[in-house]
Formats: sequence, C-alpha cells, structure tokens
Amino acid sequence: MLPQAGIRLYGELNDFLPERRRGKRLVVSLPRGEHPALKHLLASVGVPPVEVGYALLNGERVPLTLGVPPASEIEAHPYGRGRSPRPSNEGAPPFVLDNHLGRLASYLRILGFDTLYRNDFQDGELTRMAAAGRVLLTRDRQLLMRKAIRYGHWMRSKEPREQLREVVEHYALREAIAPMQRCPRCNAPLEAVAKSAVLEELEPLTRLYYEEFKRCTACGQIYWKGSHYERMRRWLEEVLAP
Ligand SMILES: [Zn+2]
Repeated sequence: MLPQAGIRLYGELNDFLPERRRGKRLVVSLPRGEHPALKHLLASVGVPPVEVGYALLNGERVPLTLGVPPASEIEAHPYGRGRSPRPSNEGAPPFVLDNHLGRLASYLRILGFDTLYRNDFQDGELTRMAAAGRVLLTRDRQLLMRKAIRYGHWMRSKEPREQLREVVEHYALREAIAPMQRCPRCNAPLEAVAKSAVLEELEPLTRLYYEEFKRCTACGQIYWKGSHYERMRRWLEEVLAP
C-alpha cells in the first residue's frame, strides 16, 4: 500500500467536494519515496491553492509549497470574507472573467468595477491577464489551478445575480460601488459631456427631460440618469440587500 496523508477542509473550501465528502477527513495516497507539495495534494482533492488562506501540517502553520511526509495530517482553511489576496489593497481589484460569465461582467461594470471580458478569450489569455495583476473569476477550477494565477475565485453560483452578490461579498466591495463610471458594454471609463455636444444623438424626450450626460470614452455610447437608471438602482438594492 502507498503511504498516506489525511486532509481536512474548513469552511467554504468544502464547496469543492462532493456533498458526501464535505467536512470529513479525506485520505490521499502519496507517491512512494516522495514528499509532494501540500498545494499539489490540495489540488488533487479539487481545491485550487489560490483559494487556500492558510494550512496546518500536523498542527503547525506551513507554506503551501512545503513537502508532505507520509502519515501527515493536513488542515486547510479559506481566506476570511474580504481577505482573499488582490493585486493592490486600494479600492476594488481589477477583474478578468472567463467566457461563461458575460452577464456578471456587465453587472460588475455597472457597479463601476474594472472588468475584462470577451466570449472568445482563450485560457492562455485569461491566465496571462490574471498573472499580470487581475483577479480571475471563473467557473472552471482547472483554469484556476494554473500555476501562474495568483489571484482568483471560483464562482460558486451559476446564476448571474447571485454571482454578483457573491463577488461583492467575497471581496467586500460594497463601499467601492460607483455606478455610472464605466461602460457596461466595453468597460471603458465614462466622461461627463455637455448636453450641447450630444444633442444630435438624443431622442426628443431625452433631450427635453435630462441635462446631465456621460459618454463612453471608447465606444461613444451615451448614458444619462433616465428611467432605466432608476430601475437599475432599485434592482441593485434588491440584489445586494443583506
Ligand atoms: Zn463603451
């Protein structure tokens, strides 16, 4: 029989296990004569190392790169809420999203968060952007396990509104929400423009009722605080209600 080690996962790291294995001691086999790195053992039970806040090896806190001898007991804990690492501690982190998260991408931009998304980004591009200092949000945990990815989160929810809530909670972003700052279509910043500069492009009623306008600095789309803006605000309050 191969040498073995025990692993116990805490808190939301259990989300990576099938239901029947959650909260239980897991047993993993070690290759004979080798001490595999702790992070490789965690990955082998489905846990991306970027989601691990800290780990104990036989009761002692150790780096995830440490080799694990046979008959060890491992404990892995998640980061606390709002504590997962990010490129900078100032404001909201910049995000990059995998191809399945298009709705979430627009929602994050509506809240003013810098969010790169395209439905044709390849895994290699996503990895490069994450390695260059963006937080990768993904439903693909294999992608999240790539070595180059330093900041990332596996989206638990499959429903876009729930996902928005999940990201805002996980990264503690409530204070950083700033609507009407970023274009939901293309992610570029919006700038204030004089009404006279956009007059030609407005529908008659918009021209009549609104005075303040913003324009996307990249795609040119015009925004104002009309009825859609009010609807969006109410929707947001509902989605983000504690
Ligand atoms: Zn735009």
